[in-house]
Amino acid sequence: MQPILAIQGVAKTYAGGHVALKPVHLDIARGEIFALLGPNGAGKSTLINIICGIVRASAGRVIADGHDIVTDWRAARAKIGLAPQELATDAFETVGQTLAFSRGLFGKPRNDALLEQLMRDLTLWDKRNDKIMTLSGGMKRRVMIAKALAHEPVILFLDEPTAGVDVELRQDMWRMAHRLRQAGVTIILTTHYIEEAEEMADRVGVIRAGELILVDDKAALMAKLGGKSLILTLDAPLAAPAPSLADLGFQSSEDGRTLTYAFQGEAGEVAMAQALAKLIERGVRFHDLNTSQRSLEDIFVALVQDKAA
Ligand code: ADP
Ligand code: MG
Repeated sequence: MQPILAIQGVAKTYAGGHVALKPVHLDIARGEIFALLGPNGAGKSTLINIICGIVRASAGRVIADGHDIVTDWRAARAKIGLAPQELATDAFETVGQTLAFSRGLFGKPRNDALLEQLMRDLTLWDKRNDKIMTLSGGMKRRVMIAKALAHEPVILFLDEPTAGVDVELRQDMWRMAHRLRQAGVTIILTTHYIEEAEEMADRVGVIRAGELILVDDKAALMAKLGGKSLILTLDAPLAAPAPSLADLGFQSSEDGRTLTYAFQGEAGEVAMAQALAKLIERGVRFHDLNTSQRSLEDIFVALVQDKAA
């Protein structure tokens, strides 16, 4: 199927010579939630701002729902909603006016019911007659998201949507994202919070120093890189060190109170169960057994270290 967004060799060197993006190639499928994950300064906003026509690319092209973002700018832009990283709205307007105005800008006919639903979904309905300047940061963030959706875009960009916002907004957003996806909207969010990518995305792209270093399904990424550990808390500490257990693949902690066994995949699980049985045969007793999974955070740190090496 044709991607809803095709990013073909997009690069950016800012005036002054700073290379913010090396050529990026990326296809986004219709209806997916894609997280662009990377540390501050990685080039996330630059990429999004290029796609939204705010920053001019130094090279490459972008096709949004069949429209070239440069040669067919107006049609491309109408397909796109952007909730930018910086909170910028007309401070003296009310929430309702801002949304209606934003919808009008894209030439869409007035639709009060749609804007009401949007405000209700983002818990803004009670604030519809409030001036934006009187709202808290989290509420302003909600307005930005509602504004991005007011013209019914098919591609939604959320640039650092939860930076400095409350838990409720994160949950509202999470629910809204899934509803939007069901309605066929494609969502691309940027974040430097691993948990956010882990929680929300179908696919994750890791960007660092202007380079897209990895793109994978979140589940595949976790399976490929997300090894597990079995951790046993022993009844009695082992006389350290415990070389007789190392042959079974167990690592003893320094105080001899816990044993750890690292494994990966289904074959790893079978081997782990066998090692555990042998451990019990050797008379080792434990009163607690846990498994832990490597998080995206660990994976990310490992990836970045790999690249730096
Ligand atoms: P991110 O959103 O991942 O934090 P940005 O895309 O904002 O990263 O920035 C990427 C790099 O480009 C950073 O080093 C930043 O300082 C630089 N940069 C961003 N905007 C400009 C600009 N207008 N002029 C010069 N350099 C810029
Ligand atoms: Mg940014």
